[in-house]
Amino acid sequence: MTTTTTNAYLGWATRGARGGQAAPIPGRTDMVPNNAGGWGFALSDTERLDRFLVLGSEGGTYYVNQEALTTQNAAVLLRALAQDGPATVARIVDISEAGRAPKNTPALFALALALRAPEAATRQAAEAALPRVARTGTHLLQLAAMLHALGGWSRSRRRALGAWFTTREPAALGWQALKYAQRDGFALRDVLRLAHPKAPTPGHAAVFDWICGRKPADPAALPATLAARDTLHRAVEAAPAEARAALAAAMVAHHNLPREAVPSAMLATAEVWRALLPSMPMMALLRGLAVLTRLGVLAEDAAETAFVAARLADSEAVRRARLHPFQVFLAAHTYARGHGLRGQAKWTPVPSIIDALEACFDASFGGLAPTGQHLLVAIDVSGSMSMPAQGAPVSCADAAAAMAVAITRREPNATVLTFDTKVRLVLHDTHRLKVSDLLGEMGGGTDLAQPVLWARAQGLAFDGIVVLTDNETWAGHTHPAEALAEYRRTINPAVKLVCCAMAANHANVVDPTDAGSLGIAGLDAAVPALVAEFLGQAAPALAEDDDA
Ligand code: CA
Repeated sequence: MTTTTTNAYLGWATRGARGGQAAPIPGRTDMVPNNAGGWGFALSDTERLDRFLVLGSEGGTYYVNQEALTTQNAAVLLRALAQDGPATVARIVDISEAGRAPKNTPALFALALALRAPEAATRQAAEAALPRVARTGTHLLQLAAMLHALGGWSRSRRRALGAWFTTREPAALGWQALKYAQRDGFALRDVLRLAHPKAPTPGHAAVFDWICGRKPADPAALPATLAARDTLHRAVEAAPAEARAALAAAMVAHHNLPREAVPSAMLATAEVWRALLPSMPMMALLRGLAVLTRLGVLAEDAAETAFVAARLADSEAVRRARLHPFQVFLAAHTYARGHGLRGQAKWTPVPSIIDALEACFDASFGGLAPTGQHLLVAIDVSGSMSMPAQGAPVSCADAAAAMAVAITRREPNATVLTFDTKVRLVLHDTHRLKVSDLLGEMGGGTDLAQPVLWARAQGLAFDGIVVLTDNETWAGHTHPAEALAEYRRTINPAVKLVCCAMAANHANVVDPTDAGSLGIAGLDAAVPALVAEFLGQAAPALAEDDDA
């Protein structure tokens, strides 16, 4: 029997015995078992590709460990590449370049598979896409480590990696070499030696020499930043210990050098961090907040604090830096905690920096007009949502709460709730809702029909219902799609459902035949925009539902 035939049979045969979400909706042959013992709708490979590119598989899910989840998603990627390689590569580039994913790692992994595809057209597309996906030295090193782990190098892959070094100007290449010397067991020197590109200019030749630790044949061709970095290291070494910090700070300020150019011993001094601050890139600034506070550079009334707060709240700078909302949320969460993961590093968070991080979080979604519609935003806080989001030190429920807040910032008419097998917390006045308002105790079982059932029981007419979940529903008597049909019959025929997936698994609760339902990846920077766009569309024609 085919899967479809099996499901059709089970849909009728087991529903009476076990009922509800433990069996498919009667008559539906397009449902599959999820990982939790319930049934959902299978995602297409295209949908799974998008989920993986945004969510990745780090840390796995409550039900599937990260190895199995990675294997599943790699199979999806290989199928998508075999089906239409160039289109799949184009999708990888789109998601990666737009900064929609919190991490670029899934896109790099997908590109590594594309670079190894059996079809020449796919490989060529992947080679052309390489500089657009591996935009920084750290991306290149990750990609090289992945290619190495996948079985190594071919002439064309070497050529594609080599082009990364030759297609940017020497000054830009030098900057990358300075900032990203090594990662994942690979040094830029290793990649350069493997790829062995021919230097197109004396400037490139000088940077290649510098990367490989050789004295440049033409020192005058070395980009100024690299020369300044070398001078800094020599000068600090030659100076007496008590004069080193001031010397390093002066040279950092004079040459606008990044943190990576500074000898590591000098990074324990406030003086050097003050010098780094004016030209520090946004992401480095986010990562540096703790040390800047610990060293006393960011004190409540310091000029530096005002400078940093203004920069964090600068929406244009946030947009240009492509800070991802989840990265900002993580940075804010870590900063407010006042200590590092292992607890050794401690700092006292400065209130105005905490406020500035809130503004930064808002800015990271970009400007978006409210739809003005009545919205219900529901966060799954069942036990499975306690898993780390993307292996980060926050749970999927925390991440979902952050995205829920992002949505409500744009929508003054929102109601937010948390649920497991029942609705637990309801907040109506959500205009200035904070993530911390939503971080409470976790629940147990999962019934994804609960938000819709609750809205119906309350008689509340919502235009849109947004659910943030890992989609592993099993405990309810009614499938979410059935509850939605009932809500449409009784309360609002035009209601739309958006389901934001917090895990890259194979099934969700979005009925693929319902034009009024949408499934998206829950950590997509575009979530608020996608929700607004979907709600802004004309109401879908009502499906024939006399059999439901
Ligand atoms: Ca669950």
